[in-house]
Amino acid sequence: MEVIQTKKELREFRNGVRGSLGFVPTMGALHEGHAALIRQSARENERTVVSIFVNPMQFGPREDLAKYPRPFERDLDICRETGANVVYAPEHADIYPAGFGSAVEVSGVGNHWCGASRPGHFVGVATVVLKLLNRVQPDRLYLGQKDAQQAALLDKMVLDLDLETEVVVCPTIRGAGGLALSSRNQYLSPGEKAAAPALYRALMECGRQIKMGQTSPQKIAEIFQGLLPGYDGWRLDYFGVADPVTMSPVPVIDRKVRLLAAAFLGTTRLIDNISAGPGLEPG
Ligand code: AMP
Repeated sequence: MEVIQTKKELREFRNGVRGSLGFVPTMGALHEGHAALIRQSARENERTVVSIFVNPMQFGPREDLAKYPRPFERDLDICRETGANVVYAPEHADIYPAGFGSAVEVSGVGNHWCGASRPGHFVGVATVVLKLLNRVQPDRLYLGQKDAQQAALLDKMVLDLDLETEVVVCPTIRGAGGLALSSRNQYLSPGEKAAAPALYRALMECGRQIKMGQTSPQKIAEIFQGLLPGYDGWRLDYFGVADPVTMSPVPVIDRKVRLLAAAFLGTTRLIDNISAGPGLEPG
């Protein structure tokens, strides 16, 4: 496995790749969720590039950029063990040289949920991912369902901007109690860790109500709100019932939808989402 830091070296590597190339963009602090993406890419492609870059452009001014975990050597071990061929870990100035001034805005998909509660977040995500795609030029881009709105937004960007890459969305990997794995879970205290699976449980209960015939997004939101604050540290950011492709709120649940939620547990913001629909098993 090779570690590459510059755009020039990456270009040289890319020029030497004969078969298909898979790409897994990450912000590091890798866990089993990232590992699953890398393994899938390694299975499906001749070569796999993993990028590790904590992208300042997607963090708000009061968010956790400075304290975001950066266990680089451990990340390299995980990449090696899961079958990555290249780790691309650029410096800030390699991605954002002095005078950088462009931004990618994907309309529609980013308007609600995380887009509304984190202004500028998706512009930061789309901009860095477009730059990375231009550099890596992968045949396949591997994204996690854990960040469903992000995956929908990047899928739209790829379509809108004629990028020659196939978007592959991989299932959410969960830990104890169903808690979606996240690099941010390490901010949680032991007590918060024990409480955290309530977010997933509440989503699943809403999914079961929809399966059994509840079609009102308002009723489902009320059920969700009634389930979450069982623990004092919870503060709901949003709950929504959305179309799985456009990510717009649906007026009535008469087909497959995504239930999306974000909540603070103490100072840590957790997000999760599941699929649901009339007569459908949630998950
Ligand atoms: P991040 O490092 O948090 O920016 O995530 C990098 C990629 O890994 C994104 O495509 C995420 O959706 C994906 N990812 C993060 N956590 C999980 C998880 N628990 N299961 C599956 N994919 C995940």
